Order: sequence, then structure tokens, then C-alpha cells
Amino acid sequence: MTTRIFAIANQKGGVGKTTSTINLAAFLANAGRKTLVIDLDPQSNTTTGLGVDSHAVGASIYEVLVNESVKPGDVIRKEIRPNLALLPAKVDLYAADIELVYLDNREYRMRHILDQIRNDYEFILIDCPPSLGLLTVNALTAADGVILPLQCEYFALEGMQQLLNTIRLVRDRLNNKVMLFGVVLTMFDSRTNLATEVVTEISQHFPKEKFDTLIPRNIRLSEAPSYGRTILEHDPRSPGALAYQKLAEEVIARAANMESLNA
Ligand code: ATP
Ligand code: MG
Repeated sequence: MTTRIFAIANQKGGVGKTTSTINLAAFLANAGRKTLVIDLDPQSNTTTGLGVDSHAVGASIYEVLVNESVKPGDVIRKEIRPNLALLPAKVDLYAADIELVYLDNREYRMRHILDQIRNDYEFILIDCPPSLGLLTVNALTAADGVILPLQCEYFALEGMQQLLNTIRLVRDRLNNKVMLFGVVLTMFDSRTNLATEVVTEISQHFPKEKFDTLIPRNIRLSEAPSYGRTILEHDPRSPGALAYQKLAEEVIARAANMESLNA
């Protein structure tokens, strides 16, 4: 079994990183692929969105990152759904961005964690915080690829150069595998010309990377996390669910061809 590790990253806030992580993972797991979600954002929205109370979480990703004696296997919640596991976060992770600065191998901590468990999973999705700090650098250093969510709005590409530079820096110095695996357009509203123009512009910027699937703006997607449900559980017939199912199919197909992509 080949394991694919993807960082879901964009330093811009509110673009759909967490929504995409949760729902892509839900459909990967539903397709029978063993999937681990890692919540690497102190906001812990992925943890709570999957129905795990982040305040009641004991040890979390923070302890595993800063304390080598805490093993990922002790902290991972196995089978929170069939084929789906979660390495949860809680608010203490805010301290990690600073504490990591003083630790050995500070950029490689996530990679060392994943080396211990990667063989247990087919897909590992890391939900990154909206910053390019050490947490995100740890995710990029551990990842095979980056999935970049972009919101269909006028300034979607603003700040993109910093993110692409960061990916390049990590590739040059820390992890020669990491690549931009895919760009997913979120909150698409087909009724506006602007959204269609943004899609055209992003297709020109990322002709190979853009996924065909557009994630529509869909209220059901924004409601689901408040019930601790994935969209598959909340409303499997909604346009949002159908879109994330299609995206999961694209990710599975593209991941199978990754070696040739990397060449
Ligand atoms: P942050 O940078 O703060 O971590 P994020 O990039 O993870 O944010 P999300 O939390 O996934 O973004 O989404 C931001 C907000 O937009 C949330 O309220 C979410 O429910 C909503 N949202 C995300 N995708 C959609 C969608 N396709 N349709 C409607 N609402 C959406
Ligand atoms: Mg988020």
C-alpha cells in the first residue's frame, strides 16, 4: 500500500481548508481508503467538525510534536468513522509555533511522527493553520504534495507567491518530494460572472494543478460542522456532498499517477 500525505494549505484564512480536509477525508474513507486526518491548526476546527470535543481531548498533536516520549499511536483516535482516524488538536497548539523554534529538528518533527505510522494509512491529510509559520513548514516537510484551496473571489491569487515560494524553499532545503498536487476552487457561485472569471484566471495560472471539480457555495457544508458531522452524514444528496465525492475520485486517480507527475 502506498501512502500519500497531503498538506491542505493556504495562509489566507477562511478559504475552505478545514471544510475540504473533513469532507475529502470523509469520501476517501467512504471509498474504502484508510485515511488519517491530522488537525494542525490551533483553532481545532477539524477536530470539533468531526464531532470530537477539543476541550475534552487529553493529549493532542501538540504533545506529540514537542515531546518525543509521546507517541502518535497513543493520541490518534482510531476509527472515529469506518476507515477514518483523527490526530486531534486543541488550543495549546498555539504555543507550538514558538516552542518549536527552540527544539532540535524543528522542521522535521511532523515527518518523524508520520514515519512511525504512515504505513497504517493510504491517505494522510494535514489541515494547516492560516499562516506560513513552523506548523505549516512541518506539514510541508512531511508531505508528498500540497492541496491548495482557493476561494472563488476577486483576490483569490493574492499572497499566492509567498505560498509558492515557501513550497519551493521547503523542496530545496527540507523535502525534495513536495509538490503542488492540486488546486481546489471553493465556494463557487455559478450565478456570478465574477466566480466564472476567477475560475478562468486560476485555470490559466494552474492548468495542470486545478481540479475539474468546483466546490459550490452550499449552506449544508457550512452547517455540518456545528453538528459534528461530515457532509456525507449531514446531507449526502446536497451539491456540496456530490462535489466532495467527485473531488475524492479525482484525488484518488491523480494520486495513483503521482510518480509520473513528479517527473
Ligand atoms: P481558517 O483559515 O480559519 O482555518 P479555512 O481555510 O479552514 O479557515 P473553512 O473553515 O473551511 O476555511 O471555511 C471558512 C468558512 O466558510 C466556514 O464558516 C465554512 O463553514 C464556510 N465554508 C467553507 N466552504 C464552504 C462552501 N463550499 N459553501 C459554504 N460555506 C463554506
Ligand atoms: Mg481551518
